[in-house]
Amino acid sequence: RGDSAVADRTVDSVCPYCGVGCQLTYHVKDDAPHAAGSAPSNAEAGRILFVTGRNGPSNQGRLCVKGRFGFDYPNHPARLTRPLIRLEGVPKGVDPDFDPAEPLTHFREASWEEALDLAAEGLTSLKASNGPEALAGFGSAKCSNEEAWLFQKLVRTGFGSNHVDHCTRLCHASSVAALMECLGSGAVTASFMQALEADVVVLTGCNPAVNHPVAATYFKQAARNGTRLIILDPRGQALDAYAWRSVRFTPGGDVALLNAMLNVIVAEGLYDQAYIDTHTEGFAALAASVVDMTPEAMSPLCGVSPGTIREIARAYATADKAMIFWGMGISQHTHGTDNARCLISLALACGQTGRPGTGLHPLRGQNNVQGASDAGLIPMVLPDYQPVGDAQLRAAFEELWNTELDPEPGLTVVEIMDAIVAGTIKGMYILGENPAMSDPDLNHARQALASLEHLVVQDLFVTETAQFADVILPATAWAEKDGTVTNTNRQVQMGRAAVAPPGEAKPDWWIIQEMARRFGLGWDYAHPREVFAEMKQGMSSLDHISWERLETEDSVIYPCLAPGAPGEDVVFSDAFPRAGGKAKFSPTRPLPPDEPVDADYPTVLTTGRLLEHWHTGAMTRRSRVLDDLEPEAAASLAPAELGRLGVAPGEPITIATRRGRITLTARSDPRMPEGMVFVPFAFVEAAANLLTNPALDPYGKIPEFKYAACRLSPAAP
Ligand code: SF4
Repeated sequence: RGDSAVADRTVDSVCPYCGVGCQLTYHVKDDAPHAAGSAPSNAEAGRILFVTGRNGPSNQGRLCVKGRFGFDYPNHPARLTRPLIRLEGVPKGVDPDFDPAEPLTHFREASWEEALDLAAEGLTSLKASNGPEALAGFGSAKCSNEEAWLFQKLVRTGFGSNHVDHCTRLCHASSVAALMECLGSGAVTASFMQALEADVVVLTGCNPAVNHPVAATYFKQAARNGTRLIILDPRGQALDAYAWRSVRFTPGGDVALLNAMLNVIVAEGLYDQAYIDTHTEGFAALAASVVDMTPEAMSPLCGVSPGTIREIARAYATADKAMIFWGMGISQHTHGTDNARCLISLALACGQTGRPGTGLHPLRGQNNVQGASDAGLIPMVLPDYQPVGDAQLRAAFEELWNTELDPEPGLTVVEIMDAIVAGTIKGMYILGENPAMSDPDLNHARQALASLEHLVVQDLFVTETAQFADVILPATAWAEKDGTVTNTNRQVQMGRAAVAPPGEAKPDWWIIQEMARRFGLGWDYAHPREVFAEMKQGMSSLDHISWERLETEDSVIYPCLAPGAPGEDVVFSDAFPRAGGKAKFSPTRPLPPDEPVDADYPTVLTTGRLLEHWHTGAMTRRSRVLDDLEPEAAASLAPAELGRLGVAPGEPITIATRRGRITLTARSDPRMPEGMVFVPFAFVEAAANLLTNPALDPYGKIPEFKYAACRLSPAAP
């Protein structure tokens, strides 16, 4: 940002990265040419010079490094500007030598008409010969609410099945399963800003300073104000410096630890009997189930001393106001739903929901994973989480969309990959997701993608998944389109186009509509606002929230109970959205990880994100500042672990599991426990998910990304 780079105009929007949903302003230059080597673009369309934070409800002017500096990926030289069609004879697969700047060695450019016709014809012919069950679609939590709505509508009304899913299956599906079961709603019960009102805040299985950085500033502020911060995690983290207690537990020992806390609360009578009587059901069964799970009995399983378990249980239970926040360290386990059930039981037993400064909050990952889930990008539910198997609820959508809908729940992300290998799913449409990097056991997932008879990928770049595509449709980046997104706090927010897309790239909603028309669906939306208007007919969660209101106010939280009201930050004060209005306790028992460590694979592998790199790196690794900060894959280990291996920081190590091996640079991290290694999953050259375990939580169908048995060894430099 130099003196000569004075913006011509500003455009208010929302950050495209995480679920915090920071509001920002793009500062745009209209008459400047693009930088040398940048993607072909409409020079008059403008380019973003820099970004500043706005005074949004969830960020109050703040931005993290991704929001502030990660805005230039749309101008990357490898940006797709025309539709591409696979060249004859080019094998499908992730080619390590693939040059993203030279996709034309694998594909040829095509007109939109030719590409759309070929994309749709490949899918319609598979449906004609094999039935609706032969097709599936992955939508994206990176797209707007309107695009998510249209995508699931296309799959349900055009493909004819419920085989539609997205990355919620890889992040918080187990949390949503537990919340739906116990509370009747899958969203948070209070915003993270409520942490400022709480006396105790529990953070477990999350690393907000890395993954929700601006939310972390609220936790720091709360701690400075006197809130007791209790951090429960196998790994240390930056927020430990603000914690009242930071408790490291054995990887996979969450259910044992949380049940031991419940045991203390029951045994010492620390529960809130009046709240339990008024607002819950099933407490007697829960109390009976935890009788034998004393701190002494659970300590060997979770690695936390009985004294510490009692101390943190008492602190949480006796607080006037307490909140629990969790992340994928809770959800990405084969017992992820049980983990979330335990957290819900803690809150219900102690009456810690429904008041300011109390609540349950799964910190949602992607910028629109809440909204995409609300809009129905889930195989077992229609928009607003209405089960596809409920004839009455389904009938409302059949009337709205004037078609008959499949009553059978569809397959989930990993199940779809299995169905491809089994030969039942033969064609896919993947919008903005990158399963060739994000799925567990990538060799299996890539084998599945390669065996598809027809694959259509819609994205900004030739991602690893697009390298398997028959047709690639060039889409529009967030800063290039209008649309709404919903953050982790249930705030529906307005995003606005700041610049035009390069070349012939098109908005996702337009492309989905063109595909739908080729399935014989007579769609005729002229703008996302018309899609939003249709969504309001099927989603009561959007009552009193209109496109026009969002254009004016930028953000309204749902549920919003009256015209002009700001929406309900804290919900379920009087009743839960379950039959009888009562929440339900769901007892659990500790279970071992699917693949415990053993003599052959003695170390725990865990995976996740970095502050600088978002998910599979499709955006952040093409953002200059972010990629300069973290340019290469590194595995984080405790210094003692490195010493035991005889590997110095900066030297290469090999990590092997029963599914694959990768070699990458070793990094010394004193916050790591011994016996564990952390690998980020953003780097194709050392793809962490070649190693991960595809075993699923039986309820949320989420893979166990947070625990795989692995073996470490020095690698030849
Ligand atoms: Fe964007 Fe999340 Fe950072 Fe806010 S905290 S700027 S939403 S990545």
